[in-house]
Parts: sequence; structure tokens; C-alpha cells
Amino acid sequence: MSLDEIYKETILDHYAHPRNKGRLSNSTITVEGANPLCGDEISLYLLVEEGRIQDVRFEGRGCSISQASTSMMTEIIKGKDLSQVRALIDAFKGMMHGKEPDVDLGDLVALQGVRKFPVRIKCATLAWIALQQALDDFEEKGATATRVVEE
Ligand code: ZN
Repeated sequence: MSLDEIYKETILDHYAHPRNKGRLSNSTITVEGANPLCGDEISLYLLVEEGRIQDVRFEGRGCSISQASTSMMTEIIKGKDLSQVRALIDAFKGMMHGKEPDVDLGDLVALQGVRKFPVRIKCATLAWIALQQALDDFEEKGATATRVVEE
């Protein structure tokens, strides 16, 4: 199997079997993200306490790249403190724009193949940009609801 095929399998596995799917009734942050160009939509529910992502769930619909990226993101940020999450956001966004990640991105490296299709990069970054905006709002005003539309 080529690396491209392994990456493709990883993406399809997360799409078919999304991790952390559903809602959280006790979330402290909710955020919606939309990528109208492709029709991707996601909602994230985060329980942040003592500066740490204690729990996270998501709901969504759209292409395999957007949903797999969100699934992988929930997996890697769960249990991390907010500074680690910020570092992951930077590393992932950087990777999607050609930079070598300086932290371990786990399954997320499977998405680097998407760089070959510039119009799909927003599918991969949707959840990350939504999360970043939500954390900014949360840290600034303790806000709990954010909506982000990629343009
Ligand atoms: Zn998409």
C-alpha cells in the first residue's frame, strides 16, 4: 500500500466511524462552523475546565475531509490544556499550508495530501478555525457560543 492509500484509508475510517460524535449536555463552549463552498457544517461541544479540554463531542455533515478532520481533531485535543491545543491548531494549519509540523499530529498527517487540492483545504481547516475562534471568544469574555463561516 502506498502512503497515499494509507492516508486515504485513515480519512475514510474516521468518516465512516467518527470519534466523539454527538452532543455534550454540560459543554462550556459550543461553536458552529460552515464552509458554504462545499456544504460542510460542524458543531463542536467542549467542556473546558481549569484550562483543559475535559471532554469534546461534535455533530456535522459534509464531505469526508471535513468530517474526518473534525473527528481526528476531537481525538487529539481531548484532555489537552489550552496552550497545547493552540500549538496543535498552529501546527495543523501550518501543515495544510506546507509547513512541517513541530508537534506530533498523529492521524492528522493523513490530511496533508489535501494540499494538492487547494479548494479542499478549507474542508480540512474548518473545525480548526472554528475551534480557534471559539477559544479566542472564551478566553476574552467567557462566551459560550460562536459561529464561524469560512469565506
Ligand atoms: Zn468539504
